[in-house]
Amino acid sequence: MKNIRKLERRKKIALIAHDNKKKDLIEWAIHNKIELSKHSLVATGTTGKLIEEALDQPVVKLLSGPLGGDQQIGAMIATGDIDVVFFFFDPMEAQPHDSDVKALLRLAVAWNLPMACDRTTADFLMTSRFMQEEYSYELPDYTQYLNRNI
Ligand code: PGA
Repeated sequence: MKNIRKLERRKKIALIAHDNKKKDLIEWAIHNKIELSKHSLVATGTTGKLIEEALDQPVVKLLSGPLGGDQQIGAMIATGDIDVVFFFFDPMEAQPHDSDVKALLRLAVAWNLPMACDRTTADFLMTSRFMQEEYSYELPDYTQYLNRNI
């Protein structure tokens, strides 16, 4: 049986930016202030604080990324509590929480989630008509994996 996931018009958006990318994400968020106000926002601690100040819109703030925030976002992806991810990660600097970053990225792909990791892709994703409409998609079928012989 197909496992369909339906996203409402109002999306649950996750926002995360590494320190060198925070300015980029904040500028992008201000540019998309009206659009973002139609959705609910969740973010890692520091990013969330900055976005909340910049947009004057409530943001659910998790732990700071390196202190467990990335893992919290990853868990919310897996439990269907996040619909879309904007994750401006830094491709030029090693992070102390590299393993958490990788886990977040992996889970977003494992659950077939729309995710933008740079500003151009964020523009494309944000202007997609699916951001303003209900959207249904098929979740990957992990039945075989779950029923494997061990
Ligand atoms: P921060 O975390 O928003 O708390 O800075 C971001 C990250 O490094 O994952």
